[in-house]
Amino acid sequence: MSQAAIKVDQVPATILSEFARFDTFTKVLLDACVLIDTQGKILKANQMLAQLMGQTTRQLLKVENIDQILSCSVDGAKLGFKELCEYDSTIRIDEVSGQITGQKGTRNLILGVYPFIDTATATKLGVFVLIRDVTAETLLQDQYKSKAIQSITDPLTTLFTRAYFEEFLNGQVTRMESLPPSEGYPVSLVMCDIDFFKKINDGFGHQAGDYVLKIVARIMKQTFRKTDVCCRYGGEEFLVILPAANFENAGIAANKLRQAIETEVIMYEDRRIPLTMSCGVAALQIGKETYMETMARADLALYECKHNGRNLVSLHDGTKIIITPRE
Ligand code: GH3
Ligand code: MG
Ligand code: MG
Repeated sequence: MSQAAIKVDQVPATILSEFARFDTFTKVLLDACVLIDTQGKILKANQMLAQLMGQTTRQLLKVENIDQILSCSVDGAKLGFKELCEYDSTIRIDEVSGQITGQKGTRNLILGVYPFIDTATATKLGVFVLIRDVTAETLLQDQYKSKAIQSITDPLTTLFTRAYFEEFLNGQVTRMESLPPSEGYPVSLVMCDIDFFKKINDGFGHQAGDYVLKIVARIMKQTFRKTDVCCRYGGEEFLVILPAANFENAGIAANKLRQAIETEVIMYEDRRIPLTMSCGVAALQIGKETYMETMARADLALYECKHNGRNLVSLHDGTKIIITPRE
């Protein structure tokens, strides 16, 4: 059949004719983009792609298969041209690692994939891929995150710092004040202090003392819930914020901690370091007292433990102190 015999609406779609309406648009795109046929061959590439690849667009058009110049993966799984071609609808793929041939290091990319399909025959013609290079942003974000984490973490124990404790507790108080009473929840504080810690430093050395602090922190993290906030308040004093726990339940958790610490076998230079801890517990009374006053009540309860032989948990219920029995 001669060309002239084909009516306009019978002309089979080609990816280039389908793409024509996008062509000018790609020139002003701030992201790299590429049009690939079903064989992986680059049919169109904008200036941003050329920049990213470190080649001219002319060179890119000579590339046999895009996989030769760019290897992508997500979570270690390959995301080559073949995989991109399998999508039947538009998709955005985040957190893509890209390795550009001839370049050092990996790039953090976001891909927008637009499959070209001849609607009349449902045949795939190829794929248009938008490539956003977010390497610099990701690096900045990671640096910011690690700095932010560092600023609220005690370096010795990796527990939260006193500054974070205050920030978190302030946040809880503000939240409670804004909630209707029916939606409120209790928030308890546990104040912990190692018994006779000075004796550990004196008898085993300061390094042994530091070692003990790290063990205590590990046991605290294991004992309390992920949603509880464990802080090193200073020296050998620790504070835990337990959102959604009343003082009785906080007391149960504190006793678990007390018991876990008492039974932990801590060896240092072939000698066992005996260890116990005392805890004072109090719950916030929103509207009635400041959190500093709640802390003062927890401290009073802790003081009571120290006066009654240590290795104890005491609760301040708002009016009196109750020393809990050891199991
Ligand atoms: P009590 O049972 O009454 O709490 O007795 P204590 O010996 O634990 O009493 P105190 O709170 O007075 O002692 C705390 C000691 O903790 C004193 C200080 O030298 C020591 N300390 C504070 N911070 C650190 C630290 O980071 N590392 C080590 N190794 N010791 C510390
Ligand atoms: Mg102390
Ligand atoms: Mg102490």
